[in-house]
Amino acid sequence: MPGHKLTRTSSFDAIIIGAGAAGMMCALTAGQRGRRILLLDHLDRTGAKILISGGGRCNFTNVNGAMADRYLAANPHFAKSALGRYSPADFIAMVDAHGIAWHEKTLGQLFCDGSAKQIVAMLEDECAKGGVETRLLARITGISKPDENFRIETPGGDFVAPALVMATGGPSIPKMGATGLAYDVARQFGLKVVEPRPALVPLTLGADDRMFESLSGVALEVVARAGKTTFREAALFTHRGLSGPAILQISSYWRNGGTISLDLLPDKDAAALLTQAKRDRPKAEAKTILREHLPQRVADALAERIGLAGQMVAHKDQALIEAGRRLNGWDFCPSGSEGFAKAEVTIGGVATDGLDQKTLAAKRLPGLHFVGEAVDVTGWLGGYNFQWAWASGRAAGEAL
Ligand SMILES: Cc1cc2nc3c(=O)[nH]c(=O)nc-3n(C[C@H](O)[C@H](O)[C@H](O)COP(=O)(O)OP(=O)(O)OC[C@H]3O[C@@H](n4cnc5c(N)ncnc54)[C@H](O)[C@@H]3O)c2cc1C
Repeated sequence: MPGHKLTRTSSFDAIIIGAGAAGMMCALTAGQRGRRILLLDHLDRTGAKILISGGGRCNFTNVNGAMADRYLAANPHFAKSALGRYSPADFIAMVDAHGIAWHEKTLGQLFCDGSAKQIVAMLEDECAKGGVETRLLARITGISKPDENFRIETPGGDFVAPALVMATGGPSIPKMGATGLAYDVARQFGLKVVEPRPALVPLTLGADDRMFESLSGVALEVVARAGKTTFREAALFTHRGLSGPAILQISSYWRNGGTISLDLLPDKDAAALLTQAKRDRPKAEAKTILREHLPQRVADALAERIGLAGQMVAHKDQALIEAGRRLNGWDFCPSGSEGFAKAEVTIGGVATDGLDQKTLAAKRLPGLHFVGEAVDVTGWLGGYNFQWAWASGRAAGEAL
């Protein structure tokens, strides 16, 4: 027939778009429950972000408990249901059943001994057990719901199913295939999206704090603070600003124009330390005193910045107390962040008030689910984001 588009249409019980952490967990769960599942991804491989995660070893969960207080969300209670029903121990059981060796690093973080590839292979294997049909290099050209089914169009054919799961993640690291497709679909079907912004991201510094540039490559333990939130971990000076776990963590709580405070001498009362040093060793160089407590390059740069030149005796007590206060609370205003290009995750996403916390389905359209990073639930650094991906994927997979 002239003008008629000849397309092959295949039908499934559910179609999952996004073969990342949450999409694969959702697919294997539903597939093993006997559902006919189609898993689509536009990349040429599954689990692209899993492969680069945790420096190639995938920090796949955190045994300090995936409590809801480790997550940022407009509704902090939303994640509790899914996280409560699929725990770190549940994921570890799957990892163990596949004979994947792992170890605990700091702060309860679990990593593969070998490679993140093992996690992807495990998920692919579990999907195969569930008879999941995976199609890679699938370019989505249309999503609609003309009747009781969702219709997904791709150049390779159309697919229909009464349930659709959006597992396309957030826009962080676009070069790894990240897109905002889940947000577009949410809006298309009347759901709200909480403004997405980069999180777990290095921060940049303005001209005022340029002295940090000379410290590029130096790391030290700090307490980073934004408002009432603090993280005690390493900070790393970079060419453009600051990075390292303490900074990545606090970046999630920082908003443009806000101040961050760094305690550069955690556990030490720097004012008392400096005034005491003046009494005990008046002829000592101030720099020398600082070098005893800080990496040398940091000590030298800070001594210059806070005017601690020459011998200790040359400084009034009040000046030392003031200098000490700055060392325990170095306030600075980042000029910005390195943006989505460098952000490990995205804060914001599909608003949870339109979703059912048990099934991750849209309240007004129960066949449409959103899982993983696409949803407005963002974890701390340390395996919490994967745990949310597993738990939310599982919750939706059990509801399909
Ligand atoms: C460098 C880096 C390291 C990280 N390390 C860790 C870590 O060690 N521990 C941790 O817990 N978290 C880590 N994270 C965060 C973690 O990777 C994410 O939170 C997690 O992958 C989110 O899972 P997801 O399934 O929701 O999304 P993703 O894993 O991002 O999967 C989304 C999938 O959807 C596909 N997709 C996107 N758009 C489309 C489209 N338009 N059409 C078709 N397919 C599409 C993508 O190709 C991708 O396969 C890291 C992130 C980065 C960037």
